[in-house]
Amino acid sequence: MTPEEVLRFAKENGAKMIDLKFTDLPGTWQHFSMPLHQLEEEAFVEGFPFDGSSVRGFQAINESDMLVIPDASTAIMDPFTAVPTLSLICNIAHPGDAGFKTRYSRDPRYVAQKAEDYLRTSGVADTAYFGPEAEFYIFDSVHYVSTDNKQCVEVDSDEAHWTSGRDLRHDGSRNMGHLMRVKEGYFPVAPNDTLQDLRTEMVLKLEELGITVEAQHHEVGAAGQSEIDIRFDTLTKTADSMLLYKYIVKNMARKYGKTVTFMPKPIYGDNGSGMHTHSSLWKDEKPLFYDGDGYAGLSQMARYYIGGILLHSPALMAIAAPSTNSYKRLVPGFEAPVNLVFSQGNRSAAVRIPSTNSPKGKRVEFRPPDPTANPYLLFSALLMAGLDGIRREIDPSDYGYGPVDRDLYHMSAEDLREICSVPGSLDEALNALEKDHSFLLEGDVFTYDLLEKYIDLKREQSATVRMRPVPIEFSLYYDA
Ligand code: GLU
Ligand code: MG
Ligand code: MG
Repeated sequence: MTPEEVLRFAKENGAKMIDLKFTDLPGTWQHFSMPLHQLEEEAFVEGFPFDGSSVRGFQAINESDMLVIPDASTAIMDPFTAVPTLSLICNIAHPGDAGFKTRYSRDPRYVAQKAEDYLRTSGVADTAYFGPEAEFYIFDSVHYVSTDNKQCVEVDSDEAHWTSGRDLRHDGSRNMGHLMRVKEGYFPVAPNDTLQDLRTEMVLKLEELGITVEAQHHEVGAAGQSEIDIRFDTLTKTADSMLLYKYIVKNMARKYGKTVTFMPKPIYGDNGSGMHTHSSLWKDEKPLFYDGDGYAGLSQMARYYIGGILLHSPALMAIAAPSTNSYKRLVPGFEAPVNLVFSQGNRSAAVRIPSTNSPKGKRVEFRPPDPTANPYLLFSALLMAGLDGIRREIDPSDYGYGPVDRDLYHMSAEDLREICSVPGSLDEALNALEKDHSFLLEGDVFTYDLLEKYIDLKREQSATVRMRPVPIEFSLYYDA
């Protein structure tokens, strides 16, 4: 839509308000609203002022005047407001003197747009497609933190009011005695699956708002783990869609009196939630990753792309698995990757090559990411790592990254010694990013100030968790 079309669209739909949404550094939507009459065509160039000082990862208080500049192509009617409201995703800029605006280097959407420009100027390809597969748990309207296999603590949403002793499996799938068994949520029909209608409503709402859905299903996690897969698209567009996806999924759940969490490992002993990310490169509308004679049908370019991703994986993990909780998911036995190798079909490998005989469908699945990742930063970082691999001709087999088609969860310690693992904690991943980030800075796609701020924020989260006693410590040490 053009700005003019957006104004017409708003009027036709009876909009009374506009809602301006943008993404903070960790990757969540922030917003503010105003009456429709404030939106004129110039606003799509001039933007609207806001105070950037209290937004996570943005500006200091003394330099906090900022602008949101709505992107007309993102206009939708917000499906969850009581009053008809036009919703727009925005870019961020500094106001500058004499109307001279500059784009804001810590706006994740700007990073994504720069990554797409960088790809075009590289000459390697003109388009990168991304397809994220987000998983999430649907719980009743309480927040849970598990402590061991059976017990959990229940947390009131506002403050730390803890009660323990409930069995989580009785919540997501509570239905007349039809209880799913742990790790057996994939995927019996109703009445065991109680979430079919809710997931379908989520799907219909996503499609109504322009996001094409491929499939929805219950996932392995018994307490209501779910998955809705959307069709691949270009980088910035897919990242925009992921934030709208989370907004729809969370708010539909709320309508049903339920709550959705994208945290990677809410329940000990059952599967965590990943956001495996598929990607492929194209030039002149032709796919570049297919070669029928190659291992798993991969072209040499695809192999180099994989080599770049695996070589930079420890650093990438700070962006792909960016919470302390992420590393509780990345353990053997739960279909989450633990080893830095590539493989056709092996779900314990960090890079999996889905089977397909179609050149257009040939793609690389990177499995470590989880849905706490900021999708703009994640897709951009993956692309930068892959392009670095292509530029430096990093064949994964020359670097000990496989292919390995055996089950990595059950390999002997001796065999595993040859294979690198994903980092074991957020701090380890942040250390790796501190050491290895020059591939991200190429073409000024990522900037130092963004990486520094990002690492600071994540170190703070890590310290917050590290400094607190957690419930399981009482079981381990109380009677010491
Ligand atoms: N839930 C698994 C994970 O943590 C993935 C399951 C699947 O292969 O879809 O990554
Ligand atoms: Mg899945
Ligand atoms: Mg997958």
